[in-house]
Amino acid sequence: MPKREIINPFNQAIIAKLDDATEEEARAAVLAARAAFDAGEWPQWTGPRRAALLRRVAELLVRNKSDLARWETVDTGKTIVESEIDIDDVVSVFRYYAGLAEQDHTRTVDVGPNVVSKVVYEPVGVCVLITPWNYPLLQASWKIAPALAAGNTMVVKPSEVTPMTTIKLVELIEEAGVPAGVVNLVLGAGPEVGPVLTSAPEVDLVSFTGGLSTGQSIMRAAADTVKKIALELGGKNPNIVFADAPFEAAVDHALTGVFLHAGQVCSAGTRLIVHADLHDEFVAELVRRAETIQLGNGLAPDSRSGPLVSAEHRAKVERHVAQAIVEGATLLTGGRRPDDPNLAAGFFYLPTIFDNCRRDMSIVQEETFGPILTVETFTEEDEAVALGNDTDYGLAGAVWTADRERGRRVAGRLRHGTVWINDFGPYVPQAEWGGFKRSGIGRELGPSGLAEYQEAKHVYENTDPQPENWFA
Ligand code: NAD
Repeated sequence: MPKREIINPFNQAIIAKLDDATEEEARAAVLAARAAFDAGEWPQWTGPRRAALLRRVAELLVRNKSDLARWETVDTGKTIVESEIDIDDVVSVFRYYAGLAEQDHTRTVDVGPNVVSKVVYEPVGVCVLITPWNYPLLQASWKIAPALAAGNTMVVKPSEVTPMTTIKLVELIEEAGVPAGVVNLVLGAGPEVGPVLTSAPEVDLVSFTGGLSTGQSIMRAAADTVKKIALELGGKNPNIVFADAPFEAAVDHALTGVFLHAGQVCSAGTRLIVHADLHDEFVAELVRRAETIQLGNGLAPDSRSGPLVSAEHRAKVERHVAQAIVEGATLLTGGRRPDDPNLAAGFFYLPTIFDNCRRDMSIVQEETFGPILTVETFTEEDEAVALGNDTDYGLAGAVWTADRERGRRVAGRLRHGTVWINDFGPYVPQAEWGGFKRSGIGRELGPSGLAEYQEAKHVYENTDPQPENWFA
């Protein structure tokens, strides 16, 4: 099989050549994880011992931060500052789950005399962890850290588009002293090696982050053997701005919310839903500032945004933009590739804003995953909520207003897994992340992110056994 070329999306330079796993190699990885779980020492490690390993991984990540950040940037195209923030967040995730691994989560149930009833939390078993290309290391850490904390063994399958930092993370986990067979890496194209992993009878759980249609096919593949599944899928995230919003902050966050990482963010604020009274001033300022965003090489300190990840992905963004124009959206800025010859070798696309958008347009409903903002207007609070919920997805959303009562009221009515009030984008390892509706099943981060990788077992002990005489 020819080697897979890994491309820097800034200039199409080949940064690595890798072998995809064969079907036999993918099977072997599953069997190694199964053997390490069924017969290995790892599931017997105490929580504090697992916690110490996670902390060693965190230390190694800190030590290798600049190398990892550089790889993340040349692999994804994102700016080096973003990559460094990602690595810091990955370190926090490992430390957070080290803390949870140390705690005894056993729950004692008071059943009455002569009974000791306990609920204990055990690892699920063999986990397949499949990640996307946009936040390669971050998404991998949201799965690997809690899966290790809970005592599982695993097969990790990064995106074939951006696998570099996951390869390095697995090396660091080995350096930290994880027993052989606990963490197994499988590289390759999802449609080829993926089903080998997701349908394997030896696998107990599949945790997937990626697109909706891939998630649906993974659910089907996992159904025959009734695997547990956790899905983090797409989003079409509303950013609702009332007329009394703090103007400067709302404009600033609306821009970062949609144009950070060229819009390749599952929680990107792609749908601006702005009060009619504020619309003209707000949108004019957004356009003015969008046109000043410095595109460039992620490694260059003055770049504020990089390219899209691949030629195929840019072609998809271009199709969505063309369709928006056919459907009658008004193009205010962007809508094409930049003219700068220095960017010609990269997969760049200009920050793009469409006005006069309606909820029935495909650009408003379908996930583009590019630097595209659509603008809708409202006059009543109920209308803003209805628009914000008018999507098959339910990942994240925001509301901007000086009226705190209203902010909380609207947040309470939005059917999304994360809602920001007067902010856009922050997440923390301690708080759950995940989607309502078609944005997914289950939660990552927080205590629920650990619970995904645990089975609850009830151990009921009778300390004074007597005959029941039911059939006497
Ligand atoms: P994708 O669905 O194309 O691929 C994701 C992963 O699945 C890759 O590793 C891919 O190789 C693998 N895969 C593909 N087909 C498979 C199959 N049949 N069986 C098993 N594995 C298979 O997604 P992508 O294009 O890499 O990432 C972008 C998507 O990820 C967007 O929709 C985005 O919203 C979503 N995402 C969601 C979150 C979240 O937290 N909800 C975070 C990041 C990205």
